[in-house]
Amino acid sequence: MAMKPEFSLATPVQFLKSVGPARARALSRLGLETVGDLLAHYPKRYFDRTSCLPIGQARPGQEVTVLGEVLTCSDRRTGRGGNLLTVAIGDDSGVMFCVWFNQKFLLKQFRAGKKVMASGVVQFHGGRPQLAHPDFEILEAEPESGTVEAGLNTGRMVPVYGLTSGIGQYWLRGLIDQALTRAVPHHLESLPPELIRKHRFPDRGTALHDIHFPADRKAMDRAVARLKYEELFTIQMLMALRRSSHRQETGIRLDQPGDMTGKLVGGLPFDLTRAQRRVLNEILADLRSGDPMHRMVQGDVGSGKTLVALIAALFVIEQGYQAVLMAPTEVLARQHGASIGKLCDAIGVSTETLTGSTPAAERRAILAGVAAGEVDLLMGTHAIIQDDVRVPRLALSIIDEQHRFGVKQRGASSSATETDHVAHLMVMSATPIPRSLSLTLFGDLDLSLIDELPAGRQPIRTEIVKEKDEDEVWKACRQEVAQGRQVYVIYPIIEETEGQDLKAATVEWERLQSEVFPGLKVALLHGRLKSRDKAAVMDRFSNGEVQVLVATTVVEVGVDVPNATAMVIHNPERFGLAQLHQLRGRIGRGTAQSYCWLLCDRFLAEETYNRIRFFASHSDGFALAEEDLRLRGPGDAWGVRQSGAPGFRLANPLTDVDLVQVCRDDARQFLDADPQLKSKVGRLVAKALRESFGRHVPLQAG
Ligand code: ADP
Ligand code: MG
Repeated sequence: MAMKPEFSLATPVQFLKSVGPARARALSRLGLETVGDLLAHYPKRYFDRTSCLPIGQARPGQEVTVLGEVLTCSDRRTGRGGNLLTVAIGDDSGVMFCVWFNQKFLLKQFRAGKKVMASGVVQFHGGRPQLAHPDFEILEAEPESGTVEAGLNTGRMVPVYGLTSGIGQYWLRGLIDQALTRAVPHHLESLPPELIRKHRFPDRGTALHDIHFPADRKAMDRAVARLKYEELFTIQMLMALRRSSHRQETGIRLDQPGDMTGKLVGGLPFDLTRAQRRVLNEILADLRSGDPMHRMVQGDVGSGKTLVALIAALFVIEQGYQAVLMAPTEVLARQHGASIGKLCDAIGVSTETLTGSTPAAERRAILAGVAAGEVDLLMGTHAIIQDDVRVPRLALSIIDEQHRFGVKQRGASSSATETDHVAHLMVMSATPIPRSLSLTLFGDLDLSLIDELPAGRQPIRTEIVKEKDEDEVWKACRQEVAQGRQVYVIYPIIEETEGQDLKAATVEWERLQSEVFPGLKVALLHGRLKSRDKAAVMDRFSNGEVQVLVATTVVEVGVDVPNATAMVIHNPERFGLAQLHQLRGRIGRGTAQSYCWLLCDRFLAEETYNRIRFFASHSDGFALAEEDLRLRGPGDAWGVRQSGAPGFRLANPLTDVDLVQVCRDDARQFLDADPQLKSKVGRLVAKALRESFGRHVPLQAG
């Protein structure tokens, strides 16, 4: 009998039985605030207790789960200062030895007489069966029959959850079971029935139940398959909706380009690369098509995206329209303002730059100029998409370093024009995104690749250096400066904090200025400086007045000072690969040889060291990005989490390439049949979408 649900997914966990304030706090540490969060707290793994094997029947190489009583525990030192913990557990049929290396702390959990369940692959050692580092669980006293927990812990596939202090495995199982029964999710179906049928999925309620408490492995697999599909389908639906809403709009159609871009390019000291030219042609075709452009331009750091953006802007400006260019940081916005401003001045194009720290009076004057159509190109940070910004002849919005903004903010700037048509949109990203992930996050955009660096670039030489050898590095830096070059020195933190012995930019800056580079100009740049001071420091570095720039990751995106040829990165282990790549991308921007030194002041775990070494030996952004993804998963590496996309709990948009494609086709087909999601099923789907993406779903309310 299906119970009437008492609770909705939004009900706070406190309303469940056995959750007091302390437990609620502990749950909140796991990010579990509501019943819905609990249901989405999927098990890390399962104990297969459907078939506990009598120990005596265990064979070498066999994967088993055994249940026994702790007979003895012992730990002893091994040869090289290690420690070996051995716990013998026995049942009626035999004895199994569970062993752990260097996990002495586990010892206190095992006491003779306790019941233990352990899973692993059987090995025979000196004739004795053993499990090395098995999954294990100490069974608590069996819950009384008739209580909520009864039967959840034995004789089935038993879920194993991520825990935090104050929360036990048994208790959490009981709680999730309670959430499942009291918020019976049968009314929460979010997939169209025809798709459920097509893929032979269980309904949503069953899937949620079965992912937590599957009767057997098959039920679990079916539940996982459905929930995984759901994650990818939802985001593909969003992309399909965006795509179709783009298509219903009319774009500004541009004529044959004039000679403005020719003038600009003619004045440059270099030729455009072939890749830049190709991408510009793709952009031009969009602008002349009559449909609004929605294009992502990807190119590795230093591939010359800024110039492509500027030329695209000129295409519309020379036809009497306006363009905006938005950057994620103040430093970058001001840099664009300065460098693009200079190029534009030379050809009679008027530009302005607006950031959060532009004084009010100046801001008003700029906005008046923009509204009057006197400003051709407006650059800046978020400040340029505020409500009071009116760009009456806007024809092109460009977003630089798009990955910093996130999925939700895309295209935020298409408002407030006086033309009847929507502006074209172009987003740029330095992060090479593997195809399946870009189908997931940017599935509504067309893609252009700048897959070539300007000629004459030399690969950067990257070296890992121990801190005791830092003098060599400083010497090399001084040599670069002696040749008229400039140097970045990067620190992971601004100020020293207790309990962390990381070098901090502020302290090191003083030391570098007085002891390491006396006689040179050393400046400090970090995120907590006032914007005006940041801008001043950047100016003095770009015009060569400052030779050594001590900085945090504020210089990570976009900063372009081609004369800088050396970078020292302290504690590189504190940065992810993608971030290191962005940092290093600040050098090697001219034709001179550039150097990057990674200063390590501590012993690094092998895995960490390998990551740093991988970075030192690879310069291709694509290879680094893939490795980063492999190591950290899409959530962290790609800002998927920050981006506002729902966390992928089961799906991995990188490895589930085929499924991404299936979901994409399904979503498009579904939308073709019901473009406004007005049907009964369509409304369900729309509701699920709004739950994930809120107002960013391009649908009328209702
Ligand atoms: P990114 O793609 O990382 O944004 P930028 O647009 O900042 O790269 O360009 C990096 C540097 O390369 C800049 O100093 C720019 O002037 C220069 N550059 C751009 N295009 C070319 C080209 N075709 N040939 C030589 N240098 C170029
Ligand atoms: Mg850039």
